[in-house]
Amino acid sequence: MDNARPARGLDALVAAGVLDSERAAGLGGVAERYAISVTPYLLDRIAAGSAALARQYIPDAAEAETAPEERADPIGDEAHSPVRGIVHRYPDRVLLKLLHACPVYCRFCFRREMVGPGGDALDGPALEAALAYIRERPEVWEVVLTGGDPLALSPRRLDAVLSALDGIAHLGVVRIHSRVPVADPARVTPELVSALRGRDKAVWLAVHANHPDELGPEPRSALARLADAGIPLLSQTVLLRGVNDDAATLEALFRALVRNRVKPYYLHHPDLAPGTGHFRVDLARGRDLVAGLRGRVSGLCQPTYVLDLPGGHGKVPAARPHLVPDGEGRFAAEDWQGRRHAYPPCGEPGNGSCGPVDEVLS
Ligand SMILES: *Cc1c(COP(=O)(O)O)cnc(C)c1O
Ligand code: SF4
Repeated sequence: MDNARPARGLDALVAAGVLDSERAAGLGGVAERYAISVTPYLLDRIAAGSAALARQYIPDAAEAETAPEERADPIGDEAHSPVRGIVHRYPDRVLLKLLHACPVYCRFCFRREMVGPGGDALDGPALEAALAYIRERPEVWEVVLTGGDPLALSPRRLDAVLSALDGIAHLGVVRIHSRVPVADPARVTPELVSALRGRDKAVWLAVHANHPDELGPEPRSALARLADAGIPLLSQTVLLRGVNDDAATLEALFRALVRNRVKPYYLHHPDLAPGTGHFRVDLARGRDLVAGLRGRVSGLCQPTYVLDLPGGHGKVPAARPHLVPDGEGRFAAEDWQGRRHAYPPCGEPGNGSCGPVDEVLS
């Protein structure tokens, strides 16, 4: 099916051939609570049979169940929002949320209680107040444009925001978080690219991508247009049950990203967003998966596995440590094949009474 328009709502998904009407009939409550929109590009990929894309974007009856530990503001942004549109948790960087709408709504979105069509945009005096907050704080070096999806704004509006940020001397970096290159690649137009390139600040783009199916020919060209314009590209991936929670899929995803000049930045442990229990991966299993990647792919392909603590306490690296104090003044180190060694190695002057040089602990 060749879909020309985004599908907004259950009926449109049924009409696009990506949801059967029987299933749609049971999803009324979900559609009332959470936004639905799927771009024409993704509708075609889902209609062509990508189960990984269908699971990320087509609503599911399981979303109706909210578990007690889930919360509307899963990572505690609210407590760190001094003015509308700003989240200031770490001293040197702030989030600037320009709008609460996205071209596509992910079923596991951590801001799902806040995003939706018509999701309020930050403009006029509210945008001015947010920019003034940044201008008045010389300790802020990096601004992260997020939302919603900032690349859903017109190139003209984006250019206006980036120009305002260029005028703040103490800023070094503007980072944009977006799903547009892989979800709505046609939106990466020459106008959009020229709004991002050649700025005074270093503009970095972090692309949200979760599965190798998201890197088909159109997204690859969109990423190439950005990389050719000199925009450094990073990725963010959410670890999701039934989408990418196996070593082969993660390996293929990270290789595909690096192959397209995108450096994997973060692998996020899924947040406690409401109605997302069916996506959640056990933390111990996530740590096993990540440890397994060490031996499979190069350092270029390794993101940092992070957990955003509920309550607004920030991100913490979640991977198993490879070096642990052994309690006797040395460390036990795990190599890429899972074998353990003592460090510093024994048999060196000043190390007291030690065993063999390459002592394998287990
Ligand atoms: C994630 C996040 C950032 C960016 O953190 P990095 O670790 O630098 O990528 C900044 N502010 C807030 C509030 C965040 O949640
Ligand atoms: S693109 Fe980001 S903000 Fe928008 S629905 Fe997906 S996860 Fe949420």
